[in-house]
Amino acid sequence: MNYKEFSREQRDAELGNLWNEYNGIKEKGLKLNMARGVPSPEQLALSLGMLDILHGDDDCRAEDGTDCRNYGVMDGIPECKRLMAQVMGVTPEMVMVGGNSSLNMMFDTIACFMNHPVLPGHPAWALVPDRKFLCPVPGYDRHFGVTEYFGFEMIPVPMDENGPDMDMVEELVKDPAVKGMWCVPKYSNPSGISYSDEVVRRIAALKPAAEDFRLMWDNAYCIHDLFDDHDEILNIFEECEKTGNIDMPIEFCSTSKITFPGSGVAAMAASENNMKVIKEKYKYQNIGFDKLNMLRHVRFFGDFEGMKAHMKKHAEILRPRFDIVLDKLSTRLEEYGVVSYNRPRGGYFVCVDVYDGTAKRVVALCKEAGVNLTGAGATYPYGNDPHDSNIRIAPSFPSLEDLSSAMDVFCICARIAALEKMNEQGLA
Ligand code: PLP
Repeated sequence: MNYKEFSREQRDAELGNLWNEYNGIKEKGLKLNMARGVPSPEQLALSLGMLDILHGDDDCRAEDGTDCRNYGVMDGIPECKRLMAQVMGVTPEMVMVGGNSSLNMMFDTIACFMNHPVLPGHPAWALVPDRKFLCPVPGYDRHFGVTEYFGFEMIPVPMDENGPDMDMVEELVKDPAVKGMWCVPKYSNPSGISYSDEVVRRIAALKPAAEDFRLMWDNAYCIHDLFDDHDEILNIFEECEKTGNIDMPIEFCSTSKITFPGSGVAAMAASENNMKVIKEKYKYQNIGFDKLNMLRHVRFFGDFEGMKAHMKKHAEILRPRFDIVLDKLSTRLEEYGVVSYNRPRGGYFVCVDVYDGTAKRVVALCKEAGVNLTGAGATYPYGNDPHDSNIRIAPSFPSLEDLSSAMDVFCICARIAALEKMNEQGLA
């Protein structure tokens, strides 16, 4: 049934049938969305109890007596630093708890290094005119947006099932204008890949020409496992300690997809040297983030074990959604030889490669039939997917029924686009 083995006549006949099916679907006027990597209402309901946790005066005191209703404590209350340190696998001294968004902390970190030397005696990044950043692809569009905004040339680095191509990274960091690399080391957005031990060790052992090269270690999905038997990645700080590179990584995480996106708690971890530079900026920027929210989070979970138990409830809700997407891909698309995809063990996305040169067409066809997908190319710097094949599917938000219908549409559109392309290419 592989479309490549079809004759031109067979392909035309198949296209005719598919267009009939497609037009029938269009008439239904569907309005379905697989674009947004956001928790479903069922998931949000899991954390509702958190909104009713602080009542009287005494409830609002942190363990050290700080009145969380008032100004102060720039880097977070101790019990929240401890909790977020466990999430990231670091010591509380390395942690700064911020506001409601880890992306905001990443933006702030790069903004800080743009204006102030990362290391004494080195120019701030804004003074490096040909500054560059390594971007493993496919990747998270907002990371790419941040480095584009700050004027970095973004260099795509392909990923395989173990993480970024490390031969290429080792070569690229010989350029002193390469100042950093984005990494989503566990259940990457969108590929779902977790970095292998060898990749983490090779990253930790990098000897970049730029002494102020920094890893943006965005561990957004560090405890977002779908199964008990989950991926484990090596601890980047422990590995960098061994290689004398402790100042290289800066780690980020948040509770956006644990409690409430936009109303969670974000945190970062870094070496003493890095934190000194970063806090020097924050001390002017903020008198203290939302300590009541930090307190609510700590009281709601009790401890890290409580948070992990909570994540199992998310997994129960998410697993059937991932199953639908994977089941449709395997039963309705795979046999035609026009798709490859990952089977992630956590995170928020299924990353699909459709027939080369058709991703934009598939997204457009889906849209016309009422199914919204993340824009084709969004997973590459400058929106430029050289193969025009990668599409990010976000299964978390729609109901099971909607997801099932949306995937049916997706599979038909992927088949139409592939057949059209094969005809265009004049395949026999
Ligand atoms: N990092 C990654 C890899 C993400 O996928 C997302 C959201 O989808 C974020 C960061 C945003 O996190 P936050 O809500 O903490 O800003």
